[in-house]
Amino acid sequence: MELTVLQNIKNTVDKLVKKYETADPWILCERLDIIVLISNLPVGVKGFYQLIKGRQIIHISRCISNTQMKLVCAHELAHAILHKNQNICHGVGNAKMEEEAEYFKHYLLKLEVNEISRWSRKDISNFTHLSEDMIILDF
Ligand SMILES: [Zn+2]
Repeated sequence: MELTVLQNIKNTVDKLVKKYETADPWILCERLDIIVLISNLPVGVKGFYQLIKGRQIIHISRCISNTQMKLVCAHELAHAILHKNQNICHGVGNAKMEEEAEYFKHYLLKLEVNEISRWSRKDISNFTHLSEDMIILDF
């Protein structure tokens, strides 16, 4: 991928994260008013992105783990942002678009990890409702 393309994707992700104050793909979809549907999809299809009557929709297979769902959500969110007007099936879009979506996903999730690693014990306690002394910071 060209360096300028990579840089543009990074900038796009940085702006999104700054504007919506999160790098969590689920929350970003919600704040961007993208409909996310978890449904029964054909075997081998983990998710896809669709634009219908101006509404952006991400479909995610219910047959995959929660972690995989999040990865698929981040990948499809990339299509929603970078390739808004296309209907794209996970892994079946053209190679360039797939590569861009994967890069977006990795960069976004890396920011999310950084975001969480800056949390204090108190932040984690507020978020998880665990008492502070139950939380061991290990990063
Ligand atoms: Zn894709």
